[in-house]
Amino acid sequence: MKTLFTGIQPTGELHMGNYFGAVKNWVMLQDSYKSYFSIVDYHAITIEYEPAEMQKKIFDLACGLIACGINPDTSRLFVQSEVPGHADLTWIFNSVTPIGELERMTQYKDKSQQHRKNINVGLLDYPVLQAADILIYKAEVVPVGEDQVQHIELTREVSRYFNRRYGDVFPEPDALLTKTPRIVGLDGSAKMSKSKGNSIALFESREEIWEKLRPAATDPARIKRTDPGTPEKCTLWSYHVLFSPEAEQKEIHEGCSTAGIGCIDCKKKLLENVMNEFDPLREKYYTLQSKPQEIRDKLDTNAQACRQAAAATIREVKEKMGLKPLWKI
Ligand code: ATP
Ligand code: MG
Repeated sequence: MKTLFTGIQPTGELHMGNYFGAVKNWVMLQDSYKSYFSIVDYHAITIEYEPAEMQKKIFDLACGLIACGINPDTSRLFVQSEVPGHADLTWIFNSVTPIGELERMTQYKDKSQQHRKNINVGLLDYPVLQAADILIYKAEVVPVGEDQVQHIELTREVSRYFNRRYGDVFPEPDALLTKTPRIVGLDGSAKMSKSKGNSIALFESREEIWEKLRPAATDPARIKRTDPGTPEKCTLWSYHVLFSPEAEQKEIHEGCSTAGIGCIDCKKKLLENVMNEFDPLREKYYTLQSKPQEIRDKLDTNAQACRQAAAATIREVKEKMGLKPLWKI
């Protein structure tokens, strides 16, 4: 069985971009691989955050992933910082990775624009930590959204740099995308993000979701109710494609193109379909929220298993690098 690794940051609420770009796919794939799903808190600290809220965010994310269908008894759902090998291997990889490779990463450029007052080394080194996350388990498959493809390519390079210098240890993993690899933001921006406030979260209430959908911008050509629109120019249409049954999609496409329906009608239909998809998940989520000890125990058990797997790789790496104290043997 091949190994699968992927991660998600505890930077905010799980949103529909995470769901359709990544998590739904993880649930489908988990039993076909030896699967590792990591809540990557060491990545999340590279931007401003509130320490007092971190554990709650980690807990909420664990509940969210389990509610979506990640099985913490058969898949290794764990918290990154509880497995020290990830940071060990990052340092080792730092010494084989050219800085220039990191400076050209799109996410680094975006995030340093977004957080101008806090452009720390961690933000630049983020993809090296990601390479360590993946390679410490020798994972070959990494299911992610489109925004992470560049980082997986870097992971492949890091693997090559290491293997060339010290001998064959690591595989070259492949990114695995869904049919909907990039969900646009509610503000029309290229990507819905947890940390940008342009998302619809999975466990929001009907009222909260409506408060976001109602004012959302649609095709700018539809100024009056009688103006026909082009669905392909409308953010909300891209959401209908995800949530609405095909017959209804056809109706909406035609209704918009002929001004048969208005944007508010279209948004109301979308709201219903969003609720239909997420209602069952929300119910599971709130049940899990009442069982913090049970969730904590599962994360602990999984972190223990990960520490063992990670330690084995670190031993192998240190041996190749001349870092194993041979005179003790
Ligand atoms: P942040 O804004 O803090 O970076 P995020 O919403 O980008 O949060 P991540 O934790 O960085 O979420 O990513 C988790 C997974 O979700 C990754 O596989 C990422 O590629 C995927 N993902 C995130 N946003 C989208 C999106 N808008 N469309 C498709 N996939 C996405
Ligand atoms: Mg992200």
